[in-house]
Amino acid sequence: MSTENLNIKEDLDSVQLAPAQQVELNNLLNECHEYLQHCDDELITKAFTLSFLSHQGNARASGEPYYLHPLEVTRIVVKEIGMDDVSVAAALLHDTVEDTEVSLEDIRREFGDVVAHLIDGMTKISGVFKNKGVKQAETFMKLLLSMADDLRVVLIKFADRLHNMRTIQHLPRKKQLNIATETMELFAPLAHRFGIYNIKSEFEDLSFKTLDPTGYKFIARKLREKKDAREAFISKFMEPVEEQLESSGFRFTIKGRPKHIYSIYRKMTRQQKPFEEIYDLFAIRIILLDPHTKEDCWRVYSFITDSYTPIPERFRDFISVPKANGYQSLHTTVITNTGQKVEVQIRTEQMDEIAEKGFAAHWRYKEGAKKEEDINRFVDWVRDVLDNPRPDAAVEFVEDFQLNLYTDEIYVFSPKGELITLPKGATPIDFAFEIHSEIGERALAAKVNGKIVPLRQKLKSGDQVEIITGKQFNLNPDWINDVVTHKARARLRQFIKQKERKVSDQGREIWARKAERAGIELPDQELAKIANKLKYPSTQKLFFDIGSGVFDVGKLVKAVKSYVSKGRIDEAETGEDAVSSATDHYQIAHDLKNTGGTSEGLILNGELTDVRYSYARCCNPIPGDDIIGFISREGDIKIHRVSCKNTRHLIKTDGERIVDISWARNIGSQFMAAIRVVGEDRVGLVSDLSSLISKTLKTNMKSVNVTSDSGMFEGTLIIMVEDIKHLDKVISRLQKVEGIKEVYRYE
Ligand code: MN
Repeated sequence: MSTENLNIKEDLDSVQLAPAQQVELNNLLNECHEYLQHCDDELITKAFTLSFLSHQGNARASGEPYYLHPLEVTRIVVKEIGMDDVSVAAALLHDTVEDTEVSLEDIRREFGDVVAHLIDGMTKISGVFKNKGVKQAETFMKLLLSMADDLRVVLIKFADRLHNMRTIQHLPRKKQLNIATETMELFAPLAHRFGIYNIKSEFEDLSFKTLDPTGYKFIARKLREKKDAREAFISKFMEPVEEQLESSGFRFTIKGRPKHIYSIYRKMTRQQKPFEEIYDLFAIRIILLDPHTKEDCWRVYSFITDSYTPIPERFRDFISVPKANGYQSLHTTVITNTGQKVEVQIRTEQMDEIAEKGFAAHWRYKEGAKKEEDINRFVDWVRDVLDNPRPDAAVEFVEDFQLNLYTDEIYVFSPKGELITLPKGATPIDFAFEIHSEIGERALAAKVNGKIVPLRQKLKSGDQVEIITGKQFNLNPDWINDVVTHKARARLRQFIKQKERKVSDQGREIWARKAERAGIELPDQELAKIANKLKYPSTQKLFFDIGSGVFDVGKLVKAVKSYVSKGRIDEAETGEDAVSSATDHYQIAHDLKNTGGTSEGLILNGELTDVRYSYARCCNPIPGDDIIGFISREGDIKIHRVSCKNTRHLIKTDGERIVDISWARNIGSQFMAAIRVVGEDRVGLVSDLSSLISKTLKTNMKSVNVTSDSGMFEGTLIIMVEDIKHLDKVISRLQKVEGIKEVYRYE
């Protein structure tokens, strides 16, 4: 035993906490008593004390003493996730082994194997996150692996990340962007898969606030403005229902919280609708207090439909058929006598806790065998995901994972009556792969509810599905567009890659024969350079185009000859069509090209530089926007808005190429911006708008595109502005035009 170990033991036994820390410890213990089923005070006291002692003298980026971080993480574990006392001890000590003198052996000796095991897991994951060279997808796989080991490690990691996100403003901007992107891309989907709705929502909102502060503030302000009206509406709507509930002796609470900010944003961008048009910004939730049961939920449903007319297609019974993450509730949408649609969710207190805390709520509610069964089912899912480790497919996997998470589920039946859960939009092909990969590979047709249907037809909840298979292998690469499950997509991608490899091998042979006849001998490395000059990312892609006849091998011969003799390729010799066909195949950075210029206008990493730059066309940044630079393969800088969806992708795949940039004070040029206008159609509206813009506001208008339909008018205006202030001025002036309902910047 080392002397250090002895110190820890002595310190733990002899130390007297100062009054301030004693208060913090007592508060924590009180919270544990309130939220946990079982609480070992001695264990938690000891963990708190060691956490305090070992982090002494260290501070966080905010300047606060370091031990407050593990303390806050622990409070999240207790109050917002609701785990057990062993997890509480592990949360208090989660950074000790990595950041302090305390060793894993010390922890094992003082706190036992389980706490040591959890902290070991936390230390390992944190190592993965610190290693900059590791791509996000691999990190994700590691997270999943540690989950299969002990799910509590990941739950504590969620709490750790949540507290780091809550205090992210103290970090440098570039770090903020990386952490926020990672949180949005990895942690939020995983929290969703665990069903921890409250934490998933906060992950998304805090990331969104970091990545797009302007968008976040806009929606937050709109929500505040509507708060009183929303509350008044809810109480009026609930009046008749509450009367019935009370006279029948129900005990209940009502929640009418709005959707979280990021989900509103996602809806606005996905449906291209202004804030006001997203009618279901909130759902009214009726929570029946203990000891009400699921039968009571149905009675409440009948009270609601006594007062309002339900829309049958929007009824969902997640009580009889819970979602895969354990969510249970009744959902119905009704129409008021003023024609407004309102979504109502009915559930018991226990169902509500599972809805908010998801998987973690099992630690509280489910006991013994049932708990084991649920945990095993989850671990099985993780194992299944990890079963086919194809490292090149990690990024694709994460994309599939996210795709599957945010879609709703449908429930279909096998011929034997087995219930299969699939994402919405699934086809019989997905179903076939879900049953067995061999069935997917040999599928010929499907029978849905007894009728033969094409394999590509979308399934509905309640369908009974039978797959008709042939003897032969029958995979069709075109199916990739008709499947939504990870299993089916992964198998089809693998198949497509095999086919591509064949074609590109053929292309390589064609080239080898031609080269031999022309007497050319060129090492592969040199050939790769020529492929790049021809705008191909690799020789494999070039050979693929040769093999499939898209690129003429004769042109490659000419290019090689001119490269060998002059050290460069003449444009004319590669041939116009060759280059253009290559570029539409691979959409390289070129389609972002814009007018650009040298960088008088931008401050790069805090200093003026002479780098060439251009503005990304996908998001058209204008001065005042939050921006970021991305060094392209050609060595110039593409400028994107931080809120641009491509930015997120770039941070994810190529974080090292990001540079911090900001606008200089005087740019002195004009920038393109699009504005969307929605309103009532009337005679002269377009001319009113255009004269307001060009005469009153002295702003250049590049184009107007208008459609009108049943009295409504929708238009997109492209104008030239100096900066964001200029744009805001135009938007706020347009809002005052008679009949105009909504004006907003459009991407
Ligand atoms: Mn931490």
